[in-house]
Amino acid sequence: MILEQLVVGMLQTNCYLVADEETRQAVVIDPGGDASRIIGRIQQLGLELVGILNTHGHFDHVLDAWTLKEALGGLIFLHPKDEPLLMDHKVGLGALFTATARSPQGKVDEWLEEGEELSFGNIRLTVLETPGHTPGHVAFHMADAGILFVGDTLFAGSIGRTDFPGGSYPRLIQSVKEKIFTLDDATRVLPGHGPETTVGREKRTNPFF
Ligand SMILES: [Zn+2]
Repeated sequence: MILEQLVVGMLQTNCYLVADEETRQAVVIDPGGDASRIIGRIQQLGLELVGILNTHGHFDHVLDAWTLKEALGGLIFLHPKDEPLLMDHKVGLGALFTATARSPQGKVDEWLEEGEELSFGNIRLTVLETPGHTPGHVAFHMADAGILFVGDTLFAGSIGRTDFPGGSYPRLIQSVKEKIFTLDDATRVLPGHGPETTVGREKRTNPFF
């Protein structure tokens, strides 16, 4: 398996490239910016982009999804409860961070739901609904590899903000306890910003729990 992290965009979002070496099929998680760099890397590795997965609809995670799709193809995935974030730059936060506010207003190809199994080549991911940071936030669990892509739900030593439109602190805490802390302690946690951690380490040391 190929797994690479690219730090993209003005908010230093972790974008992940996951590919199956055998079939060369690849998915990108949270392409929030720097599309040309992501596209260049996919081409350099000779991969076929088949899925563009978004943990949530904030602009710093989804902004370049449509640029990627236009250049390389692939279906765009998002949870339906985060669709409003794509359409309104105030709830999608574009207006908060950029002088030239824009929202992607793009079309989503596949709507995600709890427990859904996604498979691309030999890559298999399970969708876990983890609302709190946004209403439609999800995590992608690669149980085979012991990896969880958590977006902005949980960070090393911290949690995602819940003061944006649609955010809820109690729901976020509940999501982490029920969906993330119930996984194996050794599970690698790859967040939307900052360094990676593990379920066990956050259970022991995260000050919010
Ligand atoms: Zn966010």
